[in-house]
Amino acid sequence: MKTADAVIIGAGVIGSAIAYELSRAGRSVLVLDRGRGPGQGSTSASSAVVRFNYSTWTGVVTAWESKHRWEAWEDYLGGRDGGRLARFHRTGGLCLDSPNQSAEKVLGLFDQVGVPYEVWSPEDLRLRLPLVDTGRHYPPKPVAEDAFWDEPTGSIGGYWTPDAGFVDDPAFAAHNLMVAAQRLGASFRFGATVTGVRKEGGRVLGVTLDDGTRLDSPVLVNAAGPHSGVVNELAGALEDFRITTRPLRQEVHEIPGVTAYSPGVPLVADLDLGTYFRGTPAGNILVGGTEPECDPLVWLDDPDDTSLTPTQEIYEAQTYRVARRVPEATVPPRPRGIVGVYDVSSDWVPIYDRTSVDGYYVAIGTSGNQFKNAPVVGELMARLIGAVEDGQGHDTDPVQVPLAHTGHVADLSHYSRLRTPAATSGTVMG
Ligand SMILES: Cc1cc2nc3c(=O)[nH]c(=O)nc-3n(C[C@H](O)[C@H](O)[C@H](O)COP(=O)(O)OP(=O)(O)OC[C@H]3O[C@@H](n4cnc5c(N)ncnc54)[C@H](O)[C@@H]3O)c2cc1C
Repeated sequence: MKTADAVIIGAGVIGSAIAYELSRAGRSVLVLDRGRGPGQGSTSASSAVVRFNYSTWTGVVTAWESKHRWEAWEDYLGGRDGGRLARFHRTGGLCLDSPNQSAEKVLGLFDQVGVPYEVWSPEDLRLRLPLVDTGRHYPPKPVAEDAFWDEPTGSIGGYWTPDAGFVDDPAFAAHNLMVAAQRLGASFRFGATVTGVRKEGGRVLGVTLDDGTRLDSPVLVNAAGPHSGVVNELAGALEDFRITTRPLRQEVHEIPGVTAYSPGVPLVADLDLGTYFRGTPAGNILVGGTEPECDPLVWLDDPDDTSLTPTQEIYEAQTYRVARRVPEATVPPRPRGIVGVYDVSSDWVPIYDRTSVDGYYVAIGTSGNQFKNAPVVGELMARLIGAVEDGQGHDTDPVQVPLAHTGHVADLSHYSRLRTPAATSGTVMG
């Protein structure tokens, strides 16, 4: 007997958003997660930065559309969550000049999409954000090398997007989405690990859980985050994928805030030195890496097989880089950070798609940059599933989704598993 119209594997921010939108579309939904609550996987480690500088039109428009949903979060969810909701903090964001992501290309996309921005010369930057040092250091260097401490080779400016910011906090945002979905009848089951995907005649039948339970559903969605590859193997759905996914270990560190920056450090994407950083509600600075070529990437064969203890090496790389950019920042004596895992696709663009197994869908490869887009991704996936289940041949006749706030249309072939790899920065910036 059918358990639900759709079963979603994963109650992270993506799976929970899909659950909400499928419920809004009138489908009965069951979400399964091996964890103890929503957003406890990679979502919980997210820096939850909301920015718009992607290398593709669809990347920019999806992020810009999503910002409007975060700003009207209660309206979007249709209610509150025990009286509380995650909050979008609009701090503004500075992207410093760097050859890694072409400013000309991104600003051209901003013009097309309608994202407001200002271009700042080094002089503008000194006036507007005096605590940010304008020294040019490119290319990023390992902090253990003497060259890291060389004098800057010039000055840089950047571009400023006043609408950038972050969401506080990411796991709670997933909880909000779960509660909104539950209001519409969705069920969530925790401590439930999917260990098998059952199929018949090229169509998905349902899943098997670790305790042997069998659940039947005509639609199954893989939103398993860094475990997406494991679930795809279970489904035997990988043979025609031109884009693959792979788990990548990451660390994010926190350092004490700089009082003069009060009430909050804006988002700074510093590809010149190889970091991004932002303020926290507690007044500290959160810093993560942008995969500079000089830093080894820690790819994982098994997303569970990694130490969850932050390393001295990465802590020093990230915090010393912030200290070069913000000379007033102080580096604490011991690492204070968290470990998370990205689910990286081969072109750092997610895969939101159907598969060769009818009824089996994927929302994977989020590449460290899709938290911000979750509210829109939920809708993209619900529209995709609705259209494909109604017979649309998405692989040849791609689903188009009108976006309510911006009035643009997202062409979902952008996220196809069959696409030619997109021309991106090849990093978390997308
Ligand atoms: C350190 C870090 C910093 C980031 N910073 C940003 C940022 O600033 N801005 C931004 O936009 N994005 C950021 N991201 C990316 C963003 O957080 C992710 O793209 C997003 O959270 C992915 O959500 P998800 O729901 O796909 O995955 P997850 O949150 O990982 O959820 C997947 C869920 O699936 C469950 N699961 C897995 N396998 C099974 C199974 N077999 N059976 C049952 N359940 C299963 C897991 O328990 C997990 O809860 C960051 C990510 C990391 C790791």
